[in-house]
Amino acid sequence: MPELPEVETVMRGLAARLQGGRIARAVLHRADLRWPFPPGLEAQLRGARILGFRRRGKYILMRLDGGRSLLLHLGMSGRLLLGPARPNLPTPHEHFVLETEQGWRLGFVDPRRFGAIDLLPTVAETTHRLLAALGPEPLEDQFTAAGLSAALAGRRTPIKTALLDQRVVAGLGNIYVSEALFRAGISPNRSAHTVPGARAARLVPAIRETLTDAIAAGGSSLRDYVQPDGELGYFQHAWKVYGRAGLACEHCPGPPVCPGIRRTVHSGRSTFYCSRTQR
Ligand SMILES: [Zn+2]
Repeated sequence: MPELPEVETVMRGLAARLQGGRIARAVLHRADLRWPFPPGLEAQLRGARILGFRRRGKYILMRLDGGRSLLLHLGMSGRLLLGPARPNLPTPHEHFVLETEQGWRLGFVDPRRFGAIDLLPTVAETTHRLLAALGPEPLEDQFTAAGLSAALAGRRTPIKTALLDQRVVAGLGNIYVSEALFRAGISPNRSAHTVPGARAARLVPAIRETLTDAIAAGGSSLRDYVQPDGELGYFQHAWKVYGRAGLACEHCPGPPVCPGIRRTVHSGRSTFYCSRTQR
């Protein structure tokens, strides 16, 4: 599932090619993804100028003239493919296509259809039903140790689970929560209500650094944030703990001093951590 760094990379790739362009046509190949598409979407997008892009959590907002924003969410399995316009060769599971007068073709591919597309007034970006409850953006000044402490106070769930709650902080998923907790030296099993204070003060910069490093990896491994095949957003990145069960972490010499990185499960999802350095 794409998390904040992947979505940010997708957004930068879109902005590099589509910003300033005009939509020649939009085509829907079905009536819905996770939810029905807004009525008349194809006609409403036709002729619209693309003013710019914004990311909010894992959502992309394509700002159009006329005070409208096109919301894109990749869900569990969604991918965006961007390339030169071509004869209409169908791509499997491609549900939405947008072409610009400048010759670009954007396809939304989503086999599991947990993604979302909506059209909303730009002034409603903060109140839209999918965006209103989102917590602070972790790379912006609004994300602070004091605010995180307040959001975690009284929560009895593991900190791993609490950080996946998009109301606590926007944009994190399974991978980057594991990575940030490792950087902060905090056990994913620790009850969230014990994190406020000194641990939260370590966690905020750890989250920021984890995300910033991942975005930088996307920028350095992709040309203008797009893969050679036109896919947006994914990139090679070396995790410190994620997917590394049984291996030594960078702080530890390995067995017998440290049993190595462990895998556990919270809310049905894998978590990776070092039981020696994360407390
Ligand atoms: Zn270790």
